[in-house]
Amino acid sequence: MQKLEPITDFVEITPSAEIAATAHGWRAKCLQRLLRLDMPVPRTVALPATTIQAIAAGRSLDCKGVLECFGENPLVSVRPSPQNPEWGGPSTVLNIGMNAARHAVLVKTHGQAAADALYLRFVQGYAVHVARLDPDMFEIAEPSAQALRDALRAYRDEMDEPFPEDPARQLAEVLRSMSRAWAGTSARLLRQSKGAPEEAALGLVVQEMAQGLGQGISGSGVIQFIDPVTGLEQVTGRFLGQAQSSDIAEKREDALYLTRDPRGPSLEELAPELFASLARQGAACRAKLREEMQLEFTINDSHLAVIDAVRVPRSSRAGLRIAVDLANDGIITREEALLRVEPRALSELLHPQVDPRGTRDVIGRGIAASPGAATGRIVFTSAAAQASASRGEPCILVRRETAPEDIRGMHSAVGVLTERGGMTSHAAVIGRGLGLPCVVGASDLSLDVKALVLLSKSGRKLVEGDLITIDGTTGQVLAGEVEMLPPALDDAFRMLLSWADDVRDIGIRANADTPADAQTARNFEAQGIGLCRTEHMFFEEARLVAMREMIFADTPDDRATALARLLPMQRDDFVQLFEIMQGLPVCIRLFDPPLHEFLPHSRDGLRELAEALDRPLSEVTRRAEALTEFNPMLGMRGVRLGIVLPEIYDMQAQAIFEAVVEVARRGGSIVPEIMIPLVSASREVELVKTRIDAVAAKVRTATRAEFDFKLGVMVETPRAALRAGEIAQHAAFLSFGTNDLTQMTYGLSRDDAGRFMNTYVQQGVYPEDPFHILDVDGVGELLLIGAERGRQTRANLTLSICGEHGGNPESIAFCRKAGFDYVSCSSYRVPLARLAAAHLAL
Ligand code: PEP
Ligand code: MG
Repeated sequence: MQKLEPITDFVEITPSAEIAATAHGWRAKCLQRLLRLDMPVPRTVALPATTIQAIAAGRSLDCKGVLECFGENPLVSVRPSPQNPEWGGPSTVLNIGMNAARHAVLVKTHGQAAADALYLRFVQGYAVHVARLDPDMFEIAEPSAQALRDALRAYRDEMDEPFPEDPARQLAEVLRSMSRAWAGTSARLLRQSKGAPEEAALGLVVQEMAQGLGQGISGSGVIQFIDPVTGLEQVTGRFLGQAQSSDIAEKREDALYLTRDPRGPSLEELAPELFASLARQGAACRAKLREEMQLEFTINDSHLAVIDAVRVPRSSRAGLRIAVDLANDGIITREEALLRVEPRALSELLHPQVDPRGTRDVIGRGIAASPGAATGRIVFTSAAAQASASRGEPCILVRRETAPEDIRGMHSAVGVLTERGGMTSHAAVIGRGLGLPCVVGASDLSLDVKALVLLSKSGRKLVEGDLITIDGTTGQVLAGEVEMLPPALDDAFRMLLSWADDVRDIGIRANADTPADAQTARNFEAQGIGLCRTEHMFFEEARLVAMREMIFADTPDDRATALARLLPMQRDDFVQLFEIMQGLPVCIRLFDPPLHEFLPHSRDGLRELAEALDRPLSEVTRRAEALTEFNPMLGMRGVRLGIVLPEIYDMQAQAIFEAVVEVARRGGSIVPEIMIPLVSASREVELVKTRIDAVAAKVRTATRAEFDFKLGVMVETPRAALRAGEIAQHAAFLSFGTNDLTQMTYGLSRDDAGRFMNTYVQQGVYPEDPFHILDVDGVGELLLIGAERGRQTRANLTLSICGEHGGNPESIAFCRKAGFDYVSCSSYRVPLARLAAAHLAL
C-alpha cells in the first residue's frame, strides 16, 4: 500500500493559537474569537488553505494525525472556512467517523432508532456528496435498521467495495471532495460574482461533533438577537429537540420557540438557565466582536456547546439599523457605522421593495432604471393610467417608450415599464425624479400596440387590467402581486445620514423640477437644487395648451401674448420652489428641449389641438411637421432657442426675478442661479446675458426692489468644455450636463443606445453603459479640461455636475478629486450621494 504523507500543518484552535484569517479562513478566526470570549466551543482544528489547495491538486494526505487530536473514536464535522464569509463554500459534512463499531456503541448509549438514523444519514450524505453516487439510489428513506442495511448494500454495489470503515479514510475523502468542489468552475464563478478574487482560497475546520441527542434536554438550534429584516432587537431562531445542526434548516412541526410564546413551549421556559447563557453569549459577541452574530448551538444532556457563529444575514434596512445602534451604544465609531453601510443599499430603503423571502414569477427583465417595486394593473396609455388613478386603482404604465406627453400618465401610475430605452431615456429620468419604480428596455417582452397585449418570451400573454409587479431595483418584471416591504426612512436612516453630512466635503444638491420634487429634495436634506428643468413645468394640461399657443404664434407679439399667459404660472412655480427650499440655492435651467416635443404625436391629439387653437387641422398638422427635425437632439434646442426666440428666456427670467421679489416681500431671501443649456460658443452666453441683465433691470425698476442673481452655463457639448476658459468670462458657474456631454462625446443617442448597449457591454466594447457610469477616460477628460480652463479664467468659478451620473458613487469620487463644489442628482438619490461622499472623505 502507498505510504501517505501525514498532514502536519493543522492547528488546534485555542485562544492563543496562531490562527490567521488569510491562512485559515474567517470561520477559524471567528471560532478562535468565540473561545477567547470563553464560549463553550467544541474542540476544533483548522486546516490551512495551502493544505486544501494541495489536496485539490491531487495530493493524498494522511488524516490520522488530525483525528488523533480528538481522542479515541471521535465523530467530527468539517466546515468550510474561506477568507470571506460572503464567498460561500461547500456544504458542511457531519458525523465523520461513523462506522459499524461506532454504531454499536451508539445503540447502547442512544438507542437503536437514534443510532440507525445517524448512521443512515451519514451513509446517504457520504454516498451522494463525497462518493458522488446517484442521489436517487440513496433517497432519504424513513430511518430503520432495514433502510440502513439497504444503503450500505447500495454503496457496496456501486463502488465495488464496502462502505469505508476507517475514520481517517472517511475524513480524507471528505477533504478531497470539499477541496474539489471549491476548485470547480461553478463555485468559482459564483464567488467571483460576490467579489472574490481569482485566487480566493479555502481553509477548513474540523470540529468534534456536539451531538444534540441524548438524555435530558438535548437538541440543536440557531439564535440571533435581532430581527434580520428590520434590525430591531428581537430574539429569532429555532430549537429542535433530539436533533443535529443540519436538522435545523428544515421546518419542523416540533421546533420549540426560543422565547416565551403563547403558541407553544419555548426553550426559555424549558431551560431558563441555558437560555440566559445563550443571551449572554449573544451580548458578548455584540460587544466584543462588534457585530450582531447568529449562534449555532447544541445542547447535549443540558450542556451547551456553541458550534459556530456567523454575522446575522440581514436586509439592507437591518444592516443600517444595526450599524447605527452599535455606534449609539459606543461599540463602534460613527465613522465605522458609516463605512458599514453600502451607499447603494440606501436606495432600497426609500421605496417599497419586493420581500426577498417571497417567491418570484419572473416574466421578463429590463434595465433597473428607478429603484423600488410596485404592483398594479397593466395600462397601455397615459389616458388609461389617469382613468385608473381616478378610480383609485394602482396601475403600471406599459409603453414602448415614453414621451413628454406621457408625463401625466406617469404621475398617475405607480410604476412604469418600457420595452425600449436606457438609463437616460425619458422614462428613466422622469421615473427617478418622481421616485417612481421603473424598468426600461425590457426587450424580452414585446408590446403589441395594436392588440394591446404584452407578450413574454415564453409566450405568456398579458392584457390590460392584468396585475404585474415591476422591480426597479433588479429590473425584473413579475406576474401578479408579491409580498412587499415598506420604505424605511426612520430615525436610524436620518441619523446615519446626519453623520455622513458631518464628514463629507463635497456638496450634494438635487435635480428637482416641480414643488413636489423640491419637497422631496428637502425631505432628503439636499443642500439646494442643482438643476431645475423648467420645461417639465409645462407638461400640465393647462400649461401645455398655453405652451402650444406659444409654439404656434406667428409673430413675436403673438408669442409674447402666449408667453404672458405662462408667466404667472412660472412665477408661481418659482415662488413655491424658493419657499420650499428656504434660502438654499436654487439653480434654474432655462428652457431646453426642442419645441416639437410639446406637440401631440397622434392624429387625435392634433385634432384636439386644432380645436383648442381654433385653427384648421391641416394648418396645425403642417406646422407640426415643419417643426420636425432630422436630429432634434442636435437641432433647435437649448440656448439656440434662446437666441432665435429670445422671448421665451425673457419670460422665464422675468418670472424668476418677480418670484425673488415676491419671496423677499414675504420675508424670504434667495439668490437664484440661472443656467443656460447646450452652450457651444461664448457669444451665445454673451447674448443671453445681455437680455437677462436687461430683464433684471426692468423688474428692479418695476418693483423698486433690489435683488442679486448668478448666471451660469451648462457644459453639455464638447466644445463648451474645450472653450470653458472663454465661456467662464461670462459665467459665475459651470455645471456639467453629462447626459448630453456623454451623448455628444460618443456621438451616441441617449434615446437609442439601449438597443445595442447590452451587446456593447457584453462584448467589452464599453466597460459599462456610459450613460450610467461616467466614462472617466473620455467624458471625464472633458470635465477636467473644462474645469481647469474655467478656473484659470475665474478662480472662484463654482463647478458641479448635474447629469444622471451625479448620484453615482464613482462619479462623485471623480468630481471630488477634480475639486468640484457639488454634485446634483435625482432627489431620490440624494441619500445615497450623501453617504457615498462621506465614504470618500473617511
Ligand atoms: C444633461 O444633459 O446632462 C442634463 C442634465 O440635461 P438633460 O438631461 O435635461 O438634457
Ligand atoms: Mg442636457
